[in-house]
Amino acid sequence: MLVRRQTFLPFASPALTEEEVCAVINTLRSCWITTGPQTKSFEQQFATFLGAESALALNSCTAGLHLALITLGIGPGDEVITTPMTFAASANVIEHVGARVVLADVEPDTLLIDPLAVADSITDRTKAILPVHYAGHPAEMYPILDLAAAHKLFVIEDAAHALPASYCGETVGTIGDLTSFSFYATKNLTTAEGGMLTGRSELIEKARTYSLHGMSRDAWRRYGENGSWYYEVVVPGFKYNLTDIQAAMGLVQLARLQKMQLRRQQVVARYHEAFSNMPELEVPTERPYCSSAWHLYVLRLNTDRLRIQRNQFIEEMKLRCIGTSVHFIPIHLHPYYRDKYGWMPLDFPIAYQEYQRLVSLPLHPALTEEDVDYVIDAVQDIVEQYRC
Ligand SMILES: *Cc1c(COP(=O)(O)O)cnc(C)c1O
Repeated sequence: MLVRRQTFLPFASPALTEEEVCAVINTLRSCWITTGPQTKSFEQQFATFLGAESALALNSCTAGLHLALITLGIGPGDEVITTPMTFAASANVIEHVGARVVLADVEPDTLLIDPLAVADSITDRTKAILPVHYAGHPAEMYPILDLAAAHKLFVIEDAAHALPASYCGETVGTIGDLTSFSFYATKNLTTAEGGMLTGRSELIEKARTYSLHGMSRDAWRRYGENGSWYYEVVVPGFKYNLTDIQAAMGLVQLARLQKMQLRRQQVVARYHEAFSNMPELEVPTERPYCSSAWHLYVLRLNTDRLRIQRNQFIEEMKLRCIGTSVHFIPIHLHPYYRDKYGWMPLDFPIAYQEYQRLVSLPLHPALTEEDVDYVIDAVQDIVEQYRC
């Protein structure tokens, strides 16, 4: 019998320490609070950490994806291929630039965009492939890069989940043309809100101009002691810069990232050990030549062996004071996309069918061994209660 816990165990919770608090307070006291020296340092250390040529700090991953499309000149009349198994932002940015969203279904084991489906979706109008490293596991990048080379397409990676991850020894953030990371509150590294775009210096500098009103020089260079009042607007840019308050948090988080990742891996190992021999459950996979960032632990229910479906499983977890989530409601089911493109649920059958049986368990560095034990016991308790 499971002894129900008294306090709710949240699905996600940021792993912050006194160090982040001090870094933010010191920045507030430094007289420079918006984009400046902390941001510059965060960009440099982030690029070094990944081995990327260049990095641009932004106020979100969504901003990074949007700027990537703009920087690569993608717009009306163009098509961009992405996955249905993602957060709305990956598709919304394609709409923002006036291009068309083309979806390619996912592989059944990893739930990552299937290169064969991508190949089938390429037309004369295709300009880019936008893979999402779902749950932190890198997409099949070599086949995707081969398709891109053969058809002269750009590769823009949504790496919101994939810090740090690698594919055949190559770090995510150094593979495609441009890669966008998220520092949203629930992500592996957080600045509350924030993002980073990585890629070749020439592209990153173009994106940098677009990220701050299209001005030829940023505020730090204008208001700093060697600054000048003069600037020129060279493109109609956006307001996507990261503040030094956030970058200060990011620098502390980056220094602790490997340690936080170690804790994620320990939790994953515990879940794997507990669930992989239960026929009612399917555990997430990691391909041998890949290293996942393990942003999410996506469990799948073998619903033919259970008397409940996913939604009730979530309710049962909630009754046991555990928060869970669903990643993701596939893009083609959302009314805007469904209606604009006339998509039916079974147009992308794998994404649709797997969506119905997946549930994300709590996975973050702040989980204690007792928390992990409790999640495992609760899942086993529900399975025992409802197995056929
Ligand atoms: C979180 C997330 C985003 C958006 O990140 P923001 O930093 O909030 O803009 C994009 N794509 C995926 C897959 C995400 O999970």
